[in-house]
Amino acid sequence: MNAKRRTVIAGNWKMNFTPAEATAFINEIKPLVAGKDACDIIFCAPYVTIAAAQAAAEGSHIKIGAENVHFAEKGAYTGEVSAKMLTACGVEYVIIGHSERRQYFGETDETVNLRTKAALAAGMTVILCLGEVKEQRLAGITKEVVSMQTKLDLAGVTAEEMKRVIIAYEPVWAIGTGLTATPEQADETCGQIRDALCELYGKEVAESTTIQYGGSMNEKNAAELLSKPNVDGGLIGGASLVAAKFNAIVDAAQ
Ligand code: PEP
Repeated sequence: MNAKRRTVIAGNWKMNFTPAEATAFINEIKPLVAGKDACDIIFCAPYVTIAAAQAAAEGSHIKIGAENVHFAEKGAYTGEVSAKMLTACGVEYVIIGHSERRQYFGETDETVNLRTKAALAAGMTVILCLGEVKEQRLAGITKEVVSMQTKLDLAGVTAEEMKRVIIAYEPVWAIGTGLTATPEQADETCGQIRDALCELYGKEVAESTTIQYGGSMNEKNAAELLSKPNVDGGLIGGASLVAAKFNAIVDAAQ
């Protein structure tokens, strides 16, 4: 973490929690995180769960986001949701480019870029996910991969809009696997993403962009990961479904 940048601890609930379950979860975590405002706290929820989570989070500093957004304003895109629809529901944050979207739903850097630009144009804040697969890390090309993804995913995004972009560095081999990047690996790769931002936007934007680490972050490894200067928070899957675990990660970020 670095005093110059906002620390953001975000949960990605994926395809978990009915509205009633989300309400119960938020009611449980709300008193645990009350007053812990050294970091922003966001839970990204399935579309149908957002309203219940928002209602439960009212009066706290917990924000509720979405897990994806389409790039068109409206039209024949069955099953999709637009940025205008999300903002109309009071949703400010959205995850884009999660590896599960890329892996199972055919998302490419091109569609990730389109979705990112649409969300930003609608005034949303984007949590942009990127990271290498295992073979790329083993081949020693992680830096090249994350630099390229950063450039492709942010093509056409302005320096001004970068104030509303959070990057989540998520090595694909660490997501939901129990394998975690070492703090050194996380710090090094977040630094390489920052270098790519510097090339695109200059030092000021690069130094002020929050870059989270995601990939099996939990109550045991969070403090060490978050102690690294280039790791400005976490995007958390599994541990975001258990209030005590998520709260311990928030504590590590205080
Ligand atoms: C994620 O879904 O973004 C993630 C990091 O999952 P997990 O924490 O379960 O690895």
